[in-house]
Amino acid sequence: MTVSPLRLRLDSDALISNWRTLAAMSGAAACGAAVKANGYGLGARDVAQRLAGAGCRDFFVATWNEAAALADLGLPVSVLHGLREEDLAVALSATTLRPVLNTVRQVRRWREAGGGACDVMVDTGMNRLGIQPEDVGAGVLDGLQVETLLSHLASADEDVPLNRLQRDAFAALAGKSGARRMSLANSAGIALGPDYAFDLTRPGVALYGAVPVAAFKGQIRQVVTPEVQVLQRRLVPAGQIVGYNATWTAAADTEVAIVNLGYADGYLRCFSGKGRARAGGIDVPVIGRVSMDLTALDVSAAPDVAEGDWVAIDYALPAAAALSGLSQYELLTGLGARFDRMWY
Ligand SMILES: *Cc1c(COP(=O)(O)O)cnc(C)c1O
Repeated sequence: MTVSPLRLRLDSDALISNWRTLAAMSGAAACGAAVKANGYGLGARDVAQRLAGAGCRDFFVATWNEAAALADLGLPVSVLHGLREEDLAVALSATTLRPVLNTVRQVRRWREAGGGACDVMVDTGMNRLGIQPEDVGAGVLDGLQVETLLSHLASADEDVPLNRLQRDAFAALAGKSGARRMSLANSAGIALGPDYAFDLTRPGVALYGAVPVAAFKGQIRQVVTPEVQVLQRRLVPAGQIVGYNATWTAAADTEVAIVNLGYADGYLRCFSGKGRARAGGIDVPVIGRVSMDLTALDVSAAPDVAEGDWVAIDYALPAAAALSGLSQYELLTGLGARFDRMWY
């Protein structure tokens, strides 16, 4: 293994500051952290350790493989995608990992296996995962050791009546499930106010620098900056083209830096001719089409940038999402395995 020609610069202070901001906005409720999809691309172990150090005590992943990869940290991890037959052995042997039971069949499976503490997801209108609210009243959960009753908002990042409907349907279950705690809000849900916080919030994307709602503007800090190495600097004479399908033609002699980044790293082709970077402290544009592994920058304004230098890609999530048409979630979770992940 050698040093990769592309790396993610990850800001520990910003991550912790974002969690503290979201925790403060959560009021009296505890604040957890969604670390599924490898911590939204940053690295689940590194994220979980840092947030645990700051006081976070509730972590959420999607699958049991993700949970098993964190098991040795000894942190409480809830597995959102439930409990398949295939998961039973690892779920029963784990001490700090617990299933989020999503169906009546999963509830039965856990009870019959003699499982201990668990969480339960109830669907309040998103029609994705979860048992029905009626199931809670009908005794489906009787005898179960439910730590947290969860539900999930479909449109927390929009001001729509569905939020209130889901919130009220969830609040109506208070005291009926035997659960020790209730949890509804994701990142954007926290901004909906104290009525939505219940006992525990579960932010993900905002921890990592996303601004899904205006209320977070100026409060949430950027955590991730992709940095890539210049592999070659060349002069492209006027009239010549750069990149696949010759989508860019030099109007004048142009200094071009070819950097080690492409769509296989999550820098998708929607950044072609649109993305920007900081090279030698100067703002420079992406030119031509983003390739699988390479991208071209016009560095005419940055005469000192040379082969081997590191360039920082513009990746402030709200701006990058507006520019590319990708969601802030996609911008994070698409970041590929070829990046070294460096925490500062
Ligand atoms: C992913 C997820 C979260 C976190 O959502 P963000 O929008 O990233 O804050 C919370 N709860 C559930 C059930 C999730 O699937």
